[in-house]
Amino acid sequence: MIEKKYRLKRTKIVATIGPSSLNKKKIKKMILAGLNVCRINFSHCNHNDAQKIIEIIGELNVELNTHVAILGDLQGPKLRIGEVSKNTFINKGEIIDLKHGESISCNKVIFVNYNTLNNDIKLGDKVLLDDGKLILKCVELSNNNVKCLVVQGGELREKKGLNLPNTKISQPSITKKDFLDLSFCIEKNIEWIALSFVRKSSDILELKEILKKNKSKSRVIAKIEKPEAIKNLNNILKVSDAIMVARGDLGVEIPTQKVPVLQKKIVRAARRNAKPVIIATQVMESMIDNLAPTRAETNDAANAVFDGADALMLSGETSVGKFPTRVVRTISKIILDVEASDERKSFNKFLPLKSNERYISDSICYQASEIANQVEAKAILAFTASGYNAQKISSNRPNAHICVFTHNRQLLNTLSLMWGVLGFYYNNFDSTDNTIEETQAILKESKIITRGDFVINIASMPIKEKGMTNMLKLGKIS
Ligand code: PEP
Repeated sequence: MIEKKYRLKRTKIVATIGPSSLNKKKIKKMILAGLNVCRINFSHCNHNDAQKIIEIIGELNVELNTHVAILGDLQGPKLRIGEVSKNTFINKGEIIDLKHGESISCNKVIFVNYNTLNNDIKLGDKVLLDDGKLILKCVELSNNNVKCLVVQGGELREKKGLNLPNTKISQPSITKKDFLDLSFCIEKNIEWIALSFVRKSSDILELKEILKKNKSKSRVIAKIEKPEAIKNLNNILKVSDAIMVARGDLGVEIPTQKVPVLQKKIVRAARRNAKPVIIATQVMESMIDNLAPTRAETNDAANAVFDGADALMLSGETSVGKFPTRVVRTISKIILDVEASDERKSFNKFLPLKSNERYISDSICYQASEIANQVEAKAILAFTASGYNAQKISSNRPNAHICVFTHNRQLLNTLSLMWGVLGFYYNNFDSTDNTIEETQAILKESKIITRGDFVINIASMPIKEKGMTNMLKLGKIS
């Protein structure tokens, strides 16, 4: 059984599964330490290993009575250089050709997996290699040739990423590889699918269209890691089911000092739109090798919790790091301490909009959070078929636990990404009074509420119709 304190933390943890964590024993320990969502990173994980992860999570969810979700992260149009001959250095002031192809790069020509580079790049555009360690500038465009000046040199290492922060890239948002990985995700009913290098809302709409055609219930996460995506953030948020602040590539594509302020703005915008937001990359980076995080990492993780992120994501820390369980436990402890602290200010409020067709349920969800804070209620109990109510209440970040009851089993796992949401299977919607009584009894049995606690139930009346939420009841547990 998961320790109650880890089960009840509000901020969720996403962990990437890789060579150092891909076995049942380790994943079980990570879940017991507070893991909520397992990420399959298709940039590195093949379908055999992905299948193993899915099977293990399925078994553990039954054994532990948990609802751990799976997130399939599609590589998207990641630009890379190819192979490089050993000990290749490029030096400041040298001129280098960039070419599309698969030959071995040297200090005169660098080959890239980008067939429209010549058409897309403009004179003066920056070319960043290996997470910005090497910097080039386009200085000549002629006869299908891209000539670049080395502005910051260093060792050229093979298969490293290539970022073009100023260039409008014409590559398709879903690559051939993504289509194969996406079919796999659809076939396996993976709950969350993340798309890398999203530039505009139509990238997400294209992915959603494929899901719709395949009758898939998977939800879509837009990874925000391009300056173009920042410009189009509001439109991207409107059509995505969640977003990720992918600080790895974002911190290469925009000046790194701009990331902290952007992170706060993105989290607030996500909450305003009631969409879950994940903070990713280098959260506990030093724990790949060390038993404890640095003070700065601890502060960074804590600040993301203060900001009200739905989830913190671990990448190398759990996929290739030495201490996958310990890192999850460490981050759980940071989350719990921040969530219990007086320093956690109340979050900005976003009043429901009258123009929204779900204005009635939005208002009930909003008021449930307000009243819960006012009376210091222990839990808000809600029903959902689609997850909408859960998402709405969660976006208000109330102090009460958000206990969501649904008859939709796949949705239970999906809800695991959302801030403060605890999912419960329930399928007996015969009368309002009975449903309220039974769901409260489930929470008493789970030791989430106890005698004397205030609780709020929201529901739709008549309850059998499972319609729009239109009722709020405040009660005290006897
Ligand atoms: C990132 O760039 O921060 C990120 C999460 O993406 P990936 O791990 O796929 O590079």
